[in-house]
Amino acid sequence: MVDPQQGFSTRAIHAGQEPDPTTGAVVPPIYAVSTYKQDGVGGLRGGYEYSRSANPTRTALEECLAALEGGVRGMAFASGLAATDTLLRTIASPGDHVLIPGDAYGGTYRLFARIHARWGLEYTPVALGDLDAVRAAMRPTTTLIWCETPTNPLLGIADIAALAEVAHDAGARLAVDNTFASPYLQQPLALGADIVMHSTTKYLGGHSDVVGGALVVADAALGEELAYHQNAIGGVAGPFDAWLVLRGIKTLAVRMERHCANAAALVDLLTSHRNVTHVFYPGLPEHPGHEIAAKQMRDFGGMISFRVVGGESDALAVCERAKLFTLGESLGGVESLIEHPGKMTHASVAGSALEVPSDLVRLSVGIEDVEDLLTDLRCALG
Ligand SMILES: *Cc1c(COP(=O)(O)O)cnc(C)c1O
Repeated sequence: MVDPQQGFSTRAIHAGQEPDPTTGAVVPPIYAVSTYKQDGVGGLRGGYEYSRSANPTRTALEECLAALEGGVRGMAFASGLAATDTLLRTIASPGDHVLIPGDAYGGTYRLFARIHARWGLEYTPVALGDLDAVRAAMRPTTTLIWCETPTNPLLGIADIAALAEVAHDAGARLAVDNTFASPYLQQPLALGADIVMHSTTKYLGGHSDVVGGALVVADAALGEELAYHQNAIGGVAGPFDAWLVLRGIKTLAVRMERHCANAAALVDLLTSHRNVTHVFYPGLPEHPGHEIAAKQMRDFGGMISFRVVGGESDALAVCERAKLFTLGESLGGVESLIEHPGKMTHASVAGSALEVPSDLVRLSVGIEDVEDLLTDLRCALG
């Protein structure tokens, strides 16, 4: 059982993961199985009937996720977008209106703008750091504020507690994409959010070897509704993927501490470099969201974006000169990655209100030795 008094890493290592009752295995086995023998019609041993509905490896992950976010129910999905899609289909209906961040993750934006908009969901991109703009964008039909903080790729910060108040005053819900912070750095449910979403592909998995998603909620009735839709829609995490995410979660706290420390050292280099015009990192005192980030986050995370002198071609050249920083999409793994959001992760928002600067470079700072990362970034910057 989960003891809420236990520390974060104790929960990460033990929640939902009692030693296997039949063998004593200290790690939940990968239950590679689709169906379960019934002792007479409807006589389920341990409650399992079919693995879309529930699978013991996935259950272990779901209990662990709930414990880490301080929620009552966690659900694991095939990807972050599958989690978001299931959430939208559960709590929003045609004609409803949602607010989304002015610089949402590109895939999230595409899901709202190209998929759900076709089914009658209305959305407005808003700078969620500007509470007056948020209040002004609310409509009588607004049922959800979708928040990302820090945002991808511009590291914008939104005040989760304040947004929860705006949402609840209007009878709407607040969902927070907590992918960039991870539950180690930020716990949205404790700040008043109704739903936390993760791409477990990133820091929770942590090793760039799995794609997955999660939802965690603080309200049991909403959890039941979501679990119904999780099964009815079917975008669930498979047992091997669930096992990989569980394995990653055990070291989340120590990894995040190193991600943050390495990022802080790289930010120091970037802010003083002649080829860098702007650094986006919530740990910088001049970042417009710094105070809120300091209030609602344990530390400032492992993601950094920066703009370079010389525009798009120089930004691309920096990405291509880096060697230890691998040129690639995604983030949150032990290895450092570099990318050009305009041409890579955020190509799908080109021409929209969410377009990102063409001279922008994004780093996912890994947990390698910081001296090696500094040397590589210095070379890449030229
Ligand atoms: C990657 C990512 C997603 C989408 O998750 P997938 O696992 O790729 O489906 C959503 N939000 C953020 C912030 C992300 O970085």
